[in-house]
Amino acid sequence: MPQRLFPQAGGAEALKEVTYSRNVFIPVTDLCRNLCGYCTFCRPLKEARLVARSEAVDLLERAAAAGCSEALFSMGDRPWEVTGSSALIGQREDLLDYLVELAELALDRGLLPHTNAGLLQEEEIAALAPYNASMGLMLETTAQVDLHRMSPGKSPSVRLAMMEAAGRQKVPFTSGILVGIGEDCMDRIRSLELLADLHRRHGNLQEVILQPLDPKPGTPSACLDPPSLREMSDLVGMARAILPAEVSIQVPPNLVDPRPLIQAGADDLGGLSPISQDHINPNRPWPRLDDLLRMVGRPVRERLPIYPSYVRRGWYGRRTRKVVLDLADRDGFRRSEGYRGSSQGISRRIG
Ligand code: SF4
Repeated sequence: MPQRLFPQAGGAEALKEVTYSRNVFIPVTDLCRNLCGYCTFCRPLKEARLVARSEAVDLLERAAAAGCSEALFSMGDRPWEVTGSSALIGQREDLLDYLVELAELALDRGLLPHTNAGLLQEEEIAALAPYNASMGLMLETTAQVDLHRMSPGKSPSVRLAMMEAAGRQKVPFTSGILVGIGEDCMDRIRSLELLADLHRRHGNLQEVILQPLDPKPGTPSACLDPPSLREMSDLVGMARAILPAEVSIQVPPNLVDPRPLIQAGADDLGGLSPISQDHINPNRPWPRLDDLLRMVGRPVRERLPIYPSYVRRGWYGRRTRKVVLDLADRDGFRRSEGYRGSSQGISRRIG
């Protein structure tokens, strides 16, 4: 399957491309020191898991066979701060070493790691960055909201501090805001302005995710209404006006109809997986990838977990160089011949 589904018509005004990446989601551990009021991902210590090496290898090999380019490693926030956690994850250094080992297993199979390991200190980012094409942390909101009452890691100042550290280290970075968790319109504007300011100073923010709340039954979020499509659409327009033009706006197509949001200025659909589910929103399967790509009404192009401008600048982790150069085309997008899966493999329903 070609990565460009809608070649641009000669002479006509070019429509901006919508991008996506093909990924596998690997939850490293669901142990977390926080207790966010909308989360069904994290588990108490007695039920929590650490992904086994063999399980990760199996997922990575299936992902490589299905033509993925991205291994998304995600986990709870600073799980080593949970009392008694060492029995599951060892010490902080052990888990960081394991994240490096998992990233190397991904690179060995031609997949580029993107790690979202929650809040990290400067030296923890430095330990992981060489093995990652990009890294991420949602800002979520600058507001103090009730759903974050039990979550010290959701303090906006510490999250912004991590993003500053990633900026100083020139790590291509993904962030975003969570919409509908009790913040108001001014809070959203403030969050987006701070993200824009970070990018102006460090130049490393490749995309901002606008993620609508998906209220989960049995959590305090269950009584909240998710933002309407109109609200999301207005927010995309606002974000486009606030963020520098080179920062992409990503909308998750398993949580919101992307079509009006693309009309409003969104230009990325995020990581779409042919083999794994969205572990954060397990009841919200991704739409069929081929259906989705046809319905957006724009040229669609597959990218890597590192955006083209950062590929061209060589801002990827130094241990990822060979795989980046192997997978990227001249423009920094996913190289067509790098795709090794079957069209059948990517078009089946996910999750
Ligand atoms: S930080 Fe993430 S994993 Fe931890 S409770 Fe909050 S949403 Fe769940």
